[in-house]
Amino acid sequence: MNMQNSPVEFSNTEVAFAHMSNGGLSKARLLFNSFNFPGLLTLGPPMANMAIALGFKNLIKNTIFEQFCGGENVDTCRKTIDRLAASRIGTILDYSVEGEESEANFDATCAEIIRTIDAAAGNNHIPFSVFKTTGIIRFALLEKMSSHEALSDSEKEEWSRGVDRFNKICSHAEEKQVRIFVDAEESWIQDAIDRLAEEAAKRHNTRKAIVFNTIQLYRHDRLEYLKTQIVYATWFLGFKLVRGAYMEKERKRANDVGYIDPIQPTKVASDHDYNEALKHCMHHIDKISICAGTHNENSSRYLMELMQEKQLQPADERVWFSQLLGMSDHISYNLSHAGYNVCKYVPYGPVKAVIPYLTRRARENSSVAGQMGRELSLIEQEIKRRKQVGARG
Ligand SMILES: Cc1cc2nc3c(=O)[nH]c(=O)nc-3n(C[C@H](O)[C@H](O)[C@H](O)COP(=O)(O)OP(=O)(O)OC[C@H]3O[C@@H](n4cnc5c(N)ncnc54)[C@H](O)[C@@H]3O)c2cc1C
Repeated sequence: MNMQNSPVEFSNTEVAFAHMSNGGLSKARLLFNSFNFPGLLTLGPPMANMAIALGFKNLIKNTIFEQFCGGENVDTCRKTIDRLAASRIGTILDYSVEGEESEANFDATCAEIIRTIDAAAGNNHIPFSVFKTTGIIRFALLEKMSSHEALSDSEKEEWSRGVDRFNKICSHAEEKQVRIFVDAEESWIQDAIDRLAEEAAKRHNTRKAIVFNTIQLYRHDRLEYLKTQIVYATWFLGFKLVRGAYMEKERKRANDVGYIDPIQPTKVASDHDYNEALKHCMHHIDKISICAGTHNENSSRYLMELMQEKQLQPADERVWFSQLLGMSDHISYNLSHAGYNVCKYVPYGPVKAVIPYLTRRARENSSVAGQMGRELSLIEQEIKRRKQVGARG
């Protein structure tokens, strides 16, 4: 393993897929190819649920679930955790169940997040935990809090129970010394999430960054928000930097309701602010820890350059790169091979409950969205390379 900051070739498919057998690669090729055709998952959750009802659960489990998820619970994720750890890649256990909004479900999700923190405690194969605030607080309530609407008495009680869950998770993370990401969500609920995350960071980040808020740089106001946080915080800061996952929904709502679109006008503008955010954080690395949650090669390369400029070792604990399980292995594995800190989001949950997550992955990887081209062509390159090596040897 090379511990110096040397150029990392993301095109090196030998390193990227060393963890996969020939059979595994062929299976992945078949899967990514299948996204070209309208299938059960690309058609959406109702069709996928029908498939499960008709007895096709094992088919889903052995194909798309196996590619993008770690298991149905923390214990069955062990194999994935060990496989990633063998390549020096950390796991982030991401409980991806998108259930019905009820107090009982919110309590159950809170208990599950606490279990993921316990699994991460003292285990350097699980460097972070993560949660979504909408898993523990009702969406409409977060919306009301974000738009500063008055709450009824029962809503005030409900809010206070939600805040208790949020605080319980963050306090447990500090107690177990496990760093935790608060995922970013839709802009019209993000204000409330930011306030909760800021308060928690102030409380728990006194000696190092434990609570990491997520900044979506596809929003044109977020670079400024990040800069303001850096100026005012007297505690350690942790940020997961992402571009953002809800662009179409954001644009549509802004258009329907009639307010200024919160999203950058172009992809170039999102890319610009993302890289500026990396630069700004690295400039203040004495008090900031970051995780670049991105599948973008240029941003990943830029972060390596910034580390070199700052003369940071690749394995500096304050800088992490992160991708989703089953996606962009050429970035994850080549970075970890060169000594950088890398972790993968490993979604888990019962097959039926993670269908909305899998549907999003299937759609994102369809030829229309474009990502499929890159994943598939890398897999094909590696299959071809192995055949050539086999023919020579
Ligand atoms: C580890 C990890 C954690 C994540 N956590 C979160 C999270 O907490 N919250 C969240 O919202 N997302 C999260 N995401 C998803 C992320 O925000 C992106 O949607 C996804 O990673 C694709 O962006 P990219 O940086 O990988 O690369 P790219 O493929 O280079 O960028 C695609 C992104 O650019 C932006 N974009 C595309 N077209 C335009 C356009 N015309 N105008 C303006 N912007 C455009 C969109 O954000 C789009 O998703 C996470 C991703 C990863 C890998």
